[in-house]
This record gives sequence, C-alpha cells and structure tokens, in this order.
Amino acid sequence: MSIIKGIEVAKKMMAEMEPRIAALKDRGIEPQATIIRVGAKEEDLAYERMAIKKMETLGMKVSCLQLEETISQEDFEVAVAEVNDNPLVHGILLFRPLPKHLDETPVLECINPLKDADGICPANLYKVMVGDKTGFAPCTAEAALAMIDHMGIDLTGKRVVVVGRSLVVGKPFVFLALNRNATVTVCHTRTKDLAAECQNADVIVVAVGRSGLLTGEHLKEGAVVVDVGINVDEEGNMTGDVDFASAEPKCEFITPVPGGVGSVTTTMLAEHVIRGAELLTR
Ligand code: NAP
Repeated sequence: MSIIKGIEVAKKMMAEMEPRIAALKDRGIEPQATIIRVGAKEEDLAYERMAIKKMETLGMKVSCLQLEETISQEDFEVAVAEVNDNPLVHGILLFRPLPKHLDETPVLECINPLKDADGICPANLYKVMVGDKTGFAPCTAEAALAMIDHMGIDLTGKRVVVVGRSLVVGKPFVFLALNRNATVTVCHTRTKDLAAECQNADVIVVAVGRSGLLTGEHLKEGAVVVDVGINVDEEGNMTGDVDFASAEPKCEFITPVPGGVGSVTTTMLAEHVIRGAELLTR
C-alpha cells in the first residue's frame, strides 16, 4: 500500500511549469489570473488563499475581484465582462455556487473559453466530453486524474467507480476516465447498493462531502482510492470522504485528506492560466 501525497504531484507539475512561465516572461507576458468571488464564504476564502499562494510561488500574477453578495445581475455581468475583456488576464476563476438571486448562465456563455481556467463554460465541458485535449477540464477532476497518472496506473479496461455526479468533479471525471478507456460506473444518492458497486472497483474516485462515507469494507484488496472530499468538523479538523484508517490497509494506492487532491487542484489552476496565456498570445 502506498499513500500518494498531493505535494509530490504538485512539485513535479510545478517543475514542468516553471520554464513555460519563464518563456512567457521572456516575451513580456506575465501570466495572470483573476479570481472572482461574490460574497465571502469561508470555503471560497480558503481556496482563494491557497490558489493565490500557489500562483505567487510560481511567480505568476493574481488579482481578486470581490463583489458584494447583494450585487445585481446586471452589475455582476458587467463586472465579469470587464475581467474577460482585460487583455492582461489569461485565466478566470469564478467561485460557485453564486448567491441564489444571480443567474450564472449568461456569464458562463460569455467567458472566453481560453480564459476559462476552471473549465466551467459549455465549450470546455463539451471538449471534455468528446475528449478534445485543447479544452480546459474542471481543475479538481483533472487533479484527480493527475494523481492516478502519478501512481502510474493505466485506466484502460479498469473498473472505475466515481462517487458523486456534480458538474465540477464527478461528471467531468467520468468523461476523463472514459477517454482513457476505463469502464465507468457513477454512484450518487439514488444508488441502491453503494458498497456492492465499490467492492467491484479497481479505482474509486469519491467526491461527495460526507466524512467516512467509504470504509475498508467498501473496498476490494488492492483498490486505488482518490479521495476528493473535504469535510471540516466542529473542531476545525479536515477529513475526506474515506475512513482512512480502515481503507488504507486494503489499498494499493490511496490519497490522504488533507494533503491529497487539494494542492494538485490549485496547481492545475495555475497550469490552466499558463496554458491560457500561451494560447491567447500565440
Ligand atoms: P456536490 O455538488 O454537493 O455533489 C455531491 C455529490 O455527492 C452529488 O452528486 C450527490 O448525489 C453525491 N452524494 C451525496 N451524498 C451521497 C451519498 N450518501 N452516497 C452517494 N453519493 C452521495 O459536491 P462537489 O462540489 O462535487 O464536491 C464534493 C466534495 O469534494 C466536497 O467535499 C468538496 O468540498 C470537495 N471538493 C474538493 C476539491 C479539492 O480540490 N480537493 C475541489 C472541489 C470540491 P446527488 O447528485 O444524487 O445529490
């Protein structure tokens, strides 16, 4: 059994990104991200801090546009359009879900797909679906795949179970795995026998947000588990969706929480901004 830490994957990715950033800077281009946040949710702020730290460590520019939670639809659309039209910005991260009074659809349709660093626009989701690598996949789904690649696992013919079907993690991961020729099963709240589905899996990617949802009893010997879940208890302790203590002895590879997929997600965001800068300034 082997514990795969996110930092190992992130470091390797960062080493590959550094010369690309240097090449952009040689051409007078500073890769720049803008984070757009409506309101001040603690989870958004935590992710924002990590993303800023990661991009600043890499010598990239990052700015934050903080909008009032009560902002009107019109002002919101204008604010996003201004960022989108700014030629100095190469990547946009828009925190979602938005407050209930805001409709995200017109904004998702107007963001330049080359600046869509978190792969939320229809054009990029379509590319993920058809396996067109010129698109941007949602960072967390791609980070989960990067963890699997780092383990040296070829998904061809593997039975992959994805637990969770959100548009930001579960669903895009399904297509990323399908594009690697995995046989994919998706589980969610209406799945009748989650344990039976998981016990059959070679690889499990779980992105639910329920601490301890999966235990060692859900796994077959030698399973590979990528735990995307982030759960914070009342004392502030962070756990994933997998009961690590019972799962780890049965796994060939497992990712921990904290210290797992999270730091790869912010590294993937940085990579997307760099790729955006390269594509936008060709
Ligand atoms: P989400 O939109 O709330 O989706 C959760 C999914 O889990 C839904 O599809 C839901 O099924 C399913 N689900 C809930 N309870 C379940 C159960 N008991 N059994 C089986 N399926 C169940 O969440 P998300 O945005 O995808 O995030 C999922 C987790 O990943 C969260 O903990 C989040 O904090 C974490 N996350 C981590 C990162 C990272 O970088 N590490 C990034 C993003 C998110 P239904 O569709 O049937 O409701």
